[in-house]
This record gives sequence, C-alpha cells and structure tokens, in this order.
Amino acid sequence: MRGLMMDFPLTLKHILQHNERLYGKKEVVSRTEAGVHRYTYADFQKRVRKLANVLQRLGVKRGDRVATFAWNHYQHLELYFAVPCIGAVLHTVNIRLFPDQLVYIFNHAEDKLVFVDPSLIPLLERVADRLKTVEQYVVMGSGAIPETSLAPVLAYEELMADAPEDFEFPDLDEWDALGLCYTSGTTGNPKGVLYTHRAIFLHTFASAMSNTLNISERDVIFPVVPMFHANAWGLPFTAVMVGAKLVFPGPFLKPQDMAQMIQDERVTVAAGVPTLWIGLYHALKGGSYDISSLRALIVGGSAAPRALIEGFEKDFGVPIAHAWGMTELSPLGTVANLKSYMEEWPEEERYRVRAKQGMPVAGIELRIADEQGNPLPWDGKTMGEVQVRGPWVVSAYYNDPEASKDAFTPDGWFRTGDVATVDPEGYMEITDRTKDLIKSGGEWISSVQLENLLMAHPKVMEAAVIAVYHEKWQERPLAVVVPVPEHKDDITKEELIEFLRPQVASWWLPDDVVFVEEIPKTSVGKFDKKVLREQFRDYQLPTE
Ligand code: ADP
Repeated sequence: MRGLMMDFPLTLKHILQHNERLYGKKEVVSRTEAGVHRYTYADFQKRVRKLANVLQRLGVKRGDRVATFAWNHYQHLELYFAVPCIGAVLHTVNIRLFPDQLVYIFNHAEDKLVFVDPSLIPLLERVADRLKTVEQYVVMGSGAIPETSLAPVLAYEELMADAPEDFEFPDLDEWDALGLCYTSGTTGNPKGVLYTHRAIFLHTFASAMSNTLNISERDVIFPVVPMFHANAWGLPFTAVMVGAKLVFPGPFLKPQDMAQMIQDERVTVAAGVPTLWIGLYHALKGGSYDISSLRALIVGGSAAPRALIEGFEKDFGVPIAHAWGMTELSPLGTVANLKSYMEEWPEEERYRVRAKQGMPVAGIELRIADEQGNPLPWDGKTMGEVQVRGPWVVSAYYNDPEASKDAFTPDGWFRTGDVATVDPEGYMEITDRTKDLIKSGGEWISSVQLENLLMAHPKVMEAAVIAVYHEKWQERPLAVVVPVPEHKDDITKEELIEFLRPQVASWWLPDDVVFVEEIPKTSVGKFDKKVLREQFRDYQLPTE
C-alpha cells in the first residue's frame, strides 16, 4: 500500500529558499585578495538571483556544465547555488591539479563556461588552448580584469551590476544533476562523480544532525577544506540551510592567517585535512591567539593522528571530530562521536575511540568484506575492504565505464578501496588504502597506524610510511619523517624505533627512517604516497 504524502522533490532550491525566509540577517565573511568582504544572507540571496539571470543571459541551459576555478569565497558560494538552482551542473575544478589532469577534466566534463579567480588566471592560461568545449571565461574578484590571453573574457561584477534582481527558480526533478566533482586522483586518473539534487539535499540534512557534525544556526562555520574538494565537505550547503554564519579563508591558508580569522570572526567550527591542523597546532603553540570560540575541529580526508586529537583537546580545549568520507560519498561516511556512556570511560579508551574514523552516518550502510566479497565480523580485529550503500553514494562514475566496472560489488555496494576494522560498537578504523598497505611476507602492515604512532613522538611533525622493495619479504616499511624544527639536529632513527618497539609487533618496525624537510602533498593536502614511493623506488634498506 502506498502512503499518502506530497510529491515534493528534494532539490537545492528549497534549502536556498528556507535560508532566504529565515536568516537574512546572518553574515557571510570572506577574506579575499582585496581585503575582508562581508555581507548578509539577504545580500547573498539577491545576488544569487542576479547571477541566475547572468547565467541565462550567457546561454547556460539545463544540464550544461559550468566550471569554477576558485578559492573559497562569497562569489563561489553564489555559484554553488545559482548554477544548480537553474538546472545547470556546478563543476568545481581542483586548482592544484597538473596541467594534463586539468585538460583531461575540463574536456571530459565538457564545461561550457569557466568562472575563475583573478589570481588563478595564469594557471588556466597554461591549458586554455587545449580546452575543447569552453566558450567563455568569467573573472571573479572586484577589480578590473588583469591582462590575460583567456578569450573571450567577461567580468563577474560587471555582469552582475545590471542584472535584474528577480528570478523564478524552476521546479527540477530531484534526480537531476546538481554538481560534478572529480576525485583528485591520489590513486589513478581523476574520476567524475555526478551528484543529484536528492543526494545533496539528504546529505545536507544528515550532516547537520547532532549525531553527525552537529551544526546549527548558532555556529560560525569556517570551511578551510577547499570548495573544489568534495564540495568543501558539503559545509556551504549545510551552513546555508541552518543559517550559520559562514567564514571563508580565500587563498589565505597559512596557520597564522587561519588563527587570526578564527579569533576575529569568533569561529565555532572549522574543517579541513590533518596537515592543516598540524600546522595550526604549532602556530597556536608559538603565538598568542584567542581561539576560545572554537568548539570543534572537523578533521578528515586522511587519518587524524591521535597525537593531534589529544594535543588540541589538552592544550587548547578544542575537541576534534574525526570524520571519514570520499568524493564518491558526497562526501560524508562516518564520524567518530562518542556515545554518551563512553564519556565515563577511562581517558585512554576514549581517545582510542575518537581516533577511529567513527560510526556510519544515518543513511549510510557500511560493511567490511574479504576479497571474495564475504561480509566480515565487527570484532574490531578483522580487516576487510569497506563497502557502502546509501542515498548519497555514487552509482557509477560520470562517462567512465572502465572506472565504474570494478567500483561496485555484484550485489550493488560501492567498493571504497579502503581497508578497515569495525568494532562491536560500530566504530570503523581505517588501517589503509588497499594500495598503501605494506605487504610483508604475505602479511599486512598498516602504514596509517605506524604514521599515527610516529606523529605522537614529541620530536616528529609529520611522518609517512611507505613500502619499499625487499628481496626476502617483498615489501618492508620505510618511515619518512619531518622533524619539529627545534629538533631537526638531535632526532635519531634509533630513538624513533625504540619509541615504536613497545607499541607494535616487532615485524611491523620500519626497516629504516629517513629525515626530510617536507613530505610531498597531493592537490588536496594529503601525503602523496604515490610520489613518495617514486622518490624512494630504488632505496636500499639497510641489511641488518
Ligand atoms: P582522493 O581519492 O583524491 O584522495 P577523496 O578526498 O575523495 O579524494 O579521498 C577519499 C579517501 O581519503 C578515502 O577513500 C580514504 O582513503 C581517505 N580518507 C578520508 N578521510 C579519512 C580519514 N578520516 N582517515 C583515513 N583516511 C581517510
């Protein structure tokens, strides 16, 4: 028997309109190259309608892909809503990709129009003559368009100036495409994920829940995670829905800049990858910023080292909410919130739980499976591939049958390529990406666990562990370590190995430790193990 409820499509327009009716007085603050920009959601709403008119005047039709090539700021936010709400597809392009990857992505997505930040024009100029479908470029910012070879080129604010303020957003189907985002290619070619309105609508609701990221109107949200990295984890949508003040960093991502912004705007929730917060932690230690407004740091994208979780909480009273996600999951999959009764647990156990990637968000079904696809027990010990289903999980890669072929199990679960355990309480702990596991004599060593332990050593700032070829064991772990600056001359391999020895099985101990000034990072700020493995391809491990 079918129920009797309205047929009400779950589209972004409703989130936009909800904000318009209720939160017009709340602010959106952006740090831009021209200074700090501030306006209200009422201004934002007016400009989204103007932008919708601009897009139509530029010939954007339903289903057309409109690319952005930009930092996090208010104009980018306007595009986040105007493009999908007229029925076009918002394609957020990662500005840090290599030229060949950019060419691949623009051409594969068949973008018609590109909105670009003035400071990023040079990056586009390098590839523009290879872009087959782009018809015009629109330069954002507020000043005159810089000298450029991009053509034809228009100025965002000039187009906006004389655009009408009225616009009736169409009724769309909830299955219509809203956005397109390519995985940054940590593990191969970029693959396109085409989000539906329905997926983003449901993801937005789920992410705001107290059991998830716990975001409300009272928050001041600081998405440091780029708007080209899995929609800044959906935070622009969530903040607009709940009417939270939004604070954007623009291109200013240095630890001191972030600390200043948190202090000035009284940020309550900031979100980004661990490497950012490792930097912030050291800046806070050495500076005198008032970050007392901060009540949570959302950390994901790669494993949040336990030392970072403990450090922020003990030294600054800021809890870290550790989350796991993927571009393919819009991106939220799990969050490590404690259950109420765990608050009573001994500190050691509480940190152990919080350093895990956490429990599935309501709406996401999660299992771990062996190589034959058999589900494995949630005993906290058995490792298997993480597989998921849910209303905001990708069903196929965009125009990419080859990549889609191996991405799903025969019974329709998405294969994440991550390896994890799940404990009886339902907390998942990622042990590695399948490709990063170290296979030593047929057994698996988790590079992530070794990294986390190493990063808890007071002399270590960053540590990445990779597999290096070994004649007898096929692969053995090599630790690549960036020391804390004050200890760069008095840190030794021996003390790090001795530090690990009581904490891991002896055959897990890295065969060698090398000290470096920097670990290569991917375009979204994760340790780039692909590059690291290449750098150390011919590394000779000591023979005893
Ligand atoms: P890319 O594949 O380019 O890195 P994503 O940002 O979509 O792009 O990466 C998703 C992957 O990042 C996950 O499959 C997982 O391997 C890793 N990841 C995300 N969050 C975490 C986390 N909290 N802990 C460990 N790994 C994580």
